[in-house]
Amino acid sequence: MSSQEWKKGQREEFNLMKEFFNNTCVKCRGTSNLLNVERDHIKPTYQGGKNEPFNWQPLCARCNSGKGSESIDYRIDYCKEHNLIMPKKWIKNPTTKIEQHLQALRQEYPTATPDRKRQIVIVAERIKKSAGLYPVKVEEKNDDFKQSVLDHLM
Ligand SMILES: [Zn+2]
Repeated sequence: MSSQEWKKGQREEFNLMKEFFNNTCVKCRGTSNLLNVERDHIKPTYQGGKNEPFNWQPLCARCNSGKGSESIDYRIDYCKEHNLIMPKKWIKNPTTKIEQHLQALRQEYPTATPDRKRQIVIVAERIKKSAGLYPVKVEEKNDDFKQSVLDHLM
């Protein structure tokens, strides 16, 4: 919704988000060939969605204008595909989301292909490094570990 006003510092924050997602539309991954991405409110503001980074995602004009009333956070799949860890300031409930992320990795690991297993280890190590807890087994799941992950993610 481009008519939405920018609060102080929000343009800069959205620029950081655009860079993080490689200036790519997180919905169509740039296949629309519309290279400019704009700020979309995941939950539309007319439905009470907040004008805050956790409710923003970069979309191209086509994906943005074609969006209905759904509230899909396309950033999540984009991050999964690119093994990115979204800064916690862009996530609504970071504790829950990071815990879900780790849990999903733990559950996926036993049946993953060898390639995917290597990938899972890399992602897990990135989380641990972000948390300043390297080397710590990703299986460790106490509250201190969770809090440290949160504290050290941007
Ligand atoms: Zn698009």
